[in-house]
Amino acid sequence: MVVVVTGAAGFIGMHLVGALRQAGHQVVGIDRRRSTPKPGYVPLAVDLLDRDEDADQALRTADIVYHLAGRPGVRDSSPQIDYWRYRDNVVTTARVLGLVPPSVPLVVASSSSVYGGSTDGRPCREHDPLRPRGGYAASKVQLETLCASRAEAGGRVIVCRPFTVAGEGQRPDMALAQWINAVAADQPIRLLGSLQRSRDITDVRDVAAALMQLAHCGRSGTVNIGTGQGHSLAAMVAAVGQVLGRDPSVQVGPAPDDDPPATLADVSRLTQLTGLAPRTDLLALVERQAGAALGARGSNGLRRVTAV
Ligand code: NAD
Repeated sequence: MVVVVTGAAGFIGMHLVGALRQAGHQVVGIDRRRSTPKPGYVPLAVDLLDRDEDADQALRTADIVYHLAGRPGVRDSSPQIDYWRYRDNVVTTARVLGLVPPSVPLVVASSSSVYGGSTDGRPCREHDPLRPRGGYAASKVQLETLCASRAEAGGRVIVCRPFTVAGEGQRPDMALAQWINAVAADQPIRLLGSLQRSRDITDVRDVAAALMQLAHCGRSGTVNIGTGQGHSLAAMVAAVGQVLGRDPSVQVGPAPDDDPPATLADVSRLTQLTGLAPRTDLLALVERQAGAALGARGSNGLRRVTAV
């Protein structure tokens, strides 16, 4: 079985490629960032809008396609960010949808940000009205609309909405990655809103497992990938402090409108389709992530967790 992963050199993509290889699949990765070829893994360093013949052929002939390439980052304020979000999240998805035959299972990464957060502790369900709070979330709503057309025309497509993904190699712009680096460097943690805000945090290994299972569920539709368990920012800060053996100082800044107070997934559909019910052991996850981040830099700031 030949499987194509777009965004293969990214955070989630690298984990998914690893899990697919372990399951014995031949994987072709498409990403404009370079990654290293391995047994069972052929990376193509091309932009999906380049019209590269090898990449297009891989998308036309794959048995399964996971489309993770995109411009993530709710907080991203790079120059021309609206253009990049439209290009990488919307136009690129339209191109992938045009190349992958309708009968081939296509799993596409949207985002939990399309919900605009959960209110009153109620988990977000897939049929809830969408309330995108900023440009990133709006671009993912556009992506979902494109995917809905494929499904309505009888094509196979699973749109997944991951909730904050964490683990080894987490993107450096994400909160936990930034906090680990800050505490390791004896800098304060900067967070938005208040320590009482909360996030449904999903282990990247569980995300990779869920993506793999969803490709085989034989259905089209939209599926949350989360845990149904919220972690307060206070708990996240405490976990970073415990893992690094420091007492972090915290600076709280005002929360922008596009930063919801809480996120929480209803995972019943995920469980129904895959049998999976991910749970996140926050301390163990932070320990793994910090170990990968700081170990790679040769830091000795990491203390083994002895009490959980
Ligand atoms: P990432 O930035 O680490 O990986 C995305 C990859 O896509 C990058 O390596 C980038 O080079 C590649 N890419 C982007 N546009 C491309 C193009 N036109 N052609 C070729 N390659 C292109 O991001 P990630 O955190 O791994 O997220 C993967 C997907 O999951 C994204 O679509 C993101 O929006 C979505 N998502 C991520 C999270 C999370 O917590 N990490 C949560 C919800 C949704």
